[in-house]
Amino acid sequence: MTATERTRTYWLEHAWLGTHVEPDVALDVRDGRVSAVHQGVATPPPGAEILRGLTLPGLANAHSHAFHRALRGTVQVGSGTFWTWREVMYSFADRLTPDTYHALARAVYAEMALAGITAVGEFHYVHHAPGGTPYADPNAMGGALIEAAAEAGVRITLLDTCYLSSGFGEPPNTHQLRFSDGTAQAWAERCSLLKERDHARIGAAIHSVRAVPADQLATVAQWAGARRAPLHVHLSEQTAENDACQQAHGCTPTRLLADHGVLGARTTGVHNTHLTDEDIALLGESRTGTCMCPTTERDLADGIGPAAALQRAGSPLSLGSDSHAVVDLLEEARAMELNERLRTRARGHWTAAALLRAATADGHAALGWDDTGRIEAGARADLTTLALDSVRTAGPLPRLGAETAVFAATAADVRHTVVGGRHVVRDGAHALVPDVPRALMRAVEALRT
Ligand SMILES: [Zn+2]
Repeated sequence: MTATERTRTYWLEHAWLGTHVEPDVALDVRDGRVSAVHQGVATPPPGAEILRGLTLPGLANAHSHAFHRALRGTVQVGSGTFWTWREVMYSFADRLTPDTYHALARAVYAEMALAGITAVGEFHYVHHAPGGTPYADPNAMGGALIEAAAEAGVRITLLDTCYLSSGFGEPPNTHQLRFSDGTAQAWAERCSLLKERDHARIGAAIHSVRAVPADQLATVAQWAGARRAPLHVHLSEQTAENDACQQAHGCTPTRLLADHGVLGARTTGVHNTHLTDEDIALLGESRTGTCMCPTTERDLADGIGPAAALQRAGSPLSLGSDSHAVVDLLEEARAMELNERLRTRARGHWTAAALLRAATADGHAALGWDDTGRIEAGARADLTTLALDSVRTAGPLPRLGAETAVFAATAADVRHTVVGGRHVVRDGAHALVPDVPRALMRAVEALRT
């Protein structure tokens, strides 16, 4: 292949360049990366791929449990709490096999690509067969997720999750046996067998302070630290977890993580909902990130986390669709701001640009893709183009593109998704998974029977 064959040009009608929207931008893309950004290119160069609308960097979905997508709609009947929802969620977890999980995740990641998501952080804990027996390939489930992402055309960071206990001092229950490796050391040995691929990074996760005993936390943190890999942890999503941690250890979950070396710049706390002022200071000072999942947090009646205070304290923000009640990163960004408005009865806690940064560059950084999420020379050519002529987005001036993207557009306005210079979604159609709704339907039905 000659150099010219490997270089492609994309012409962007409008491009969000991190600080403002620029019209008439041409990108040279070579070997999956942007090699040059040209401004003021009024006419698309011959042979260029034309992206009409507003092009953003690809969106990063920093927190996903792919199989939760099977619950959509089915958990909206009747009343309850996070804990009653969890029982239904476990009934689906019980039925997953490497094959059914592969089919479901492929469809879910294709849905994400259609929503402009180019990288997903999969917080993965269904490791073994029901009852806890390892598969012949101990990473059959994680491998199925990595392959599913490849087939759906998106990047994945597999956040392989350590899950050892049901609560403080309690062994896993029947449902949770398949999540557990027994000890953090056994978890580490299994994870060390996972292989990275061009589209796949391996990271670590601590399910929660409920699910990993205090004396096992450092093993997980050291495994991630030795590899400079991202480390994620569900943190203080529920007040019951805080109360149980106080009873068992006499401190908050954040303090417990700090005392066992879990916090730091490569660590992300997911939810960070019910925190003390000291917790916020510990997370901020250590530069531990915060992944907010506002559509899930409202769906599960979790509460509203102190995202603005966390960011002020020094914690970078990212966003995730978590339980996939909705797969729409623009809605996650909008909801973070709107939640804060409801709580404070004041507007404008973040600019639209700051919300987009959480959905793009900072989300990618939380997943270990530091060179992704910006439209600039050297960055990976991951792009999301929104229509500016839909019923939702028509009207605002193009220079208000960031505001339009966050406060008017939805996932339905995504027209093109480009990953590493390759069109994964073109004109609203997935290029690799021909009928995504049907793939979702079949995969969910397979889990019902
Ligand atoms: Zn989660």
